[in-house]
Amino acid sequence: MDYGQRNVYIFTFLSFFSAFSLFFSTFNFQLSTFYYLCAVILSSHPTMRFSMTPATYDLASEAVDLLKRLIATPRTSRDEGAAADLFARFIEEKGFQVHREANNLWTIADGYDSARPTLLLNAHLDTVRPVSGWMRDPFVPVVEGDRLYGLGANDDGASLVSLFAAFRVLARRPQAYNLVFLASAEEEVSGRDGVARAMAQLPPIDVALVGEPTGMQPAIAEKGLMVLDVTAKGRAGHAARDEGVNAIYLALPDIEWFRTFRFPKVSDLLGPVRMSVTVINAGTQHNVVPDRCTFTVDVRSNECYTNQELFDIITSSVSSEVAARSFRLGSSHIDISHPLVARALSLGPTVDGQPRAPFGSPTLSDQALMPWPSMKMGPGQSARSHTADEFIRLPEIQTAIDDYIQMLDGLTFSSRFYQKRA
Ligand SMILES: [Zn+2]
Repeated sequence: MDYGQRNVYIFTFLSFFSAFSLFFSTFNFQLSTFYYLCAVILSSHPTMRFSMTPATYDLASEAVDLLKRLIATPRTSRDEGAAADLFARFIEEKGFQVHREANNLWTIADGYDSARPTLLLNAHLDTVRPVSGWMRDPFVPVVEGDRLYGLGANDDGASLVSLFAAFRVLARRPQAYNLVFLASAEEEVSGRDGVARAMAQLPPIDVALVGEPTGMQPAIAEKGLMVLDVTAKGRAGHAARDEGVNAIYLALPDIEWFRTFRFPKVSDLLGPVRMSVTVINAGTQHNVVPDRCTFTVDVRSNECYTNQELFDIITSSVSSEVAARSFRLGSSHIDISHPLVARALSLGPTVDGQPRAPFGSPTLSDQALMPWPSMKMGPGQSARSHTADEFIRLPEIQTAIDDYIQMLDGLTFSSRFYQKRA
């Protein structure tokens, strides 16, 4: 029995009681109205609906149980094999067919029809390595109060198990879209064997919901990343004879440019593009004028620019040689008018009592590698990720499942209508 049916039962029972009391209390309208109101409130109020719903409760407890088993299965990036095995078994036990490419797993809801648009639900399986400072064993799931502690409990285990719980419900109900669930690997290292490898085998996707800890707030833009290796080339010489061309001095005006230049287009959601010189190397010994000075620049893009556009502006402004390690990790964005965003904003307050508000996220996720529009939203808090004694609050998982179902059940959106900025 799912919770939609459960509500129908509550409503029917209390409505019947209402009519019954009307009849037997010689038409006592007050009492009858009272029962009728109870029927309406109990069957429609979202929080009441949650606490009254054994099906969602079972889903949540199974999700938490799965998360505990995942925590106990070390799954750092590029080493997710055992966790992928475990999760694949769980998906099969729940009656879905699993596809696997490296350590990426996906499943497609029955009734796939290429004429309909497709929604992808995605969260990542891998974790970073535990930082020093854990007071607990990061691989032993421990519940204290309403908190579940363990490595990857927040990033990204809670989103992973909550999205799959929602998938189980949504896949059993008729929807106007195709539904795909993907657990991706190597997210924390943006690895080649992660989401990019799975994407090549997925059916065409129109929009994605990426579960990452955002306190169940919809992130509708995400910063991109480009790392630059910059080299100023001079000519070596003896320091005592004022020979050569000092590469450090050549690099200085370029470093100053990176420090002070402001890209003109500023995003409402993500602010300006930020550039930071983070590593510098030059010189071998005190009496040799260095012929090379290399430095690294970390560039965090907003959705107003592609990485290629930023690169072109940079290379035309500095005299040093510039090489980008990759253009893969672009900024991502979804139109605020997309029905997926609208549905998210129509949910009631979060479990922390916050009203839903779209925002721009400074952290990178698999969204960077997705060519289609995507929204990021999941249980937990970004500030808890990659920290010692990482935890998720159990009510965060329970309400996330409920939110995801409410948000996605009956959703309609157009096929490939909203394109990502070229
Ligand atoms: Zn994450």
